[in-house]
Amino acid sequence: MPIHISCHRETIGCQLFASMRRHVEAYKPRPMISEKKHVENGLFIMKKLTLYIAIFIGLVALLPERITLPVKGATPADWNAKSFWFEPWGTSGVHKGIDIFARKGTDVLSTTDGIVVFHGNLPKGGQVVVVLGPRWRLHYFAHLNSINTAFGSFVRSGEKIGTVGDSGNAKGKPAHLHYAIVRLYPAFWAMDTTTQGYKKALFINPDHFLRDQ
Ligand SMILES: [Zn+2]
Repeated sequence: MPIHISCHRETIGCQLFASMRRHVEAYKPRPMISEKKHVENGLFIMKKLTLYIAIFIGLVALLPERITLPVKGATPADWNAKSFWFEPWGTSGVHKGIDIFARKGTDVLSTTDGIVVFHGNLPKGGQVVVVLGPRWRLHYFAHLNSINTAFGSFVRSGEKIGTVGDSGNAKGKPAHLHYAIVRLYPAFWAMDTTTQGYKKALFINPDHFLRDQ
């Protein structure tokens, strides 16, 4: 004979049973469809993000370089055309930029449109500003007397970013701007057999870059 237990709503046992059932219902796993949707949303966001990054990379790569000489009033006579990769050059071995001589306090101008990605004090460079410009090139301005820009600033070609000085390892030497250009992607075809010649995959000759301006 099956045992029949009658359950009336008002009994404590019955209420407990109903309460347990409610808890079990509440903790049942959610349907799989919502999990699938969650994954789809994630993929959609990732695809969108990848597209934005690709557009950004493309835009920076394709922006034209509107070049300005980096010292106000300077002409190519103010730097030595052969100073790029000149050796011996102190602890660096070779000189990976050019030195543009000017009176201390002369305006230093951004050579290109770009974003200020660094400014601060470095042991060799002294007061330094670095601008990320078109074609993924870093423009390095060193030995400044003062810095007149801020991190993350968008600067236009010809905009003042500092003044000429003798900071860093230029102390005691005539005031000048050390200007260098570095590629963020290596150009292996630019390498040669000179001292540290493999680094020419990264360093661009600023004399060639500026001379025709
Ligand atoms: Zn220099």
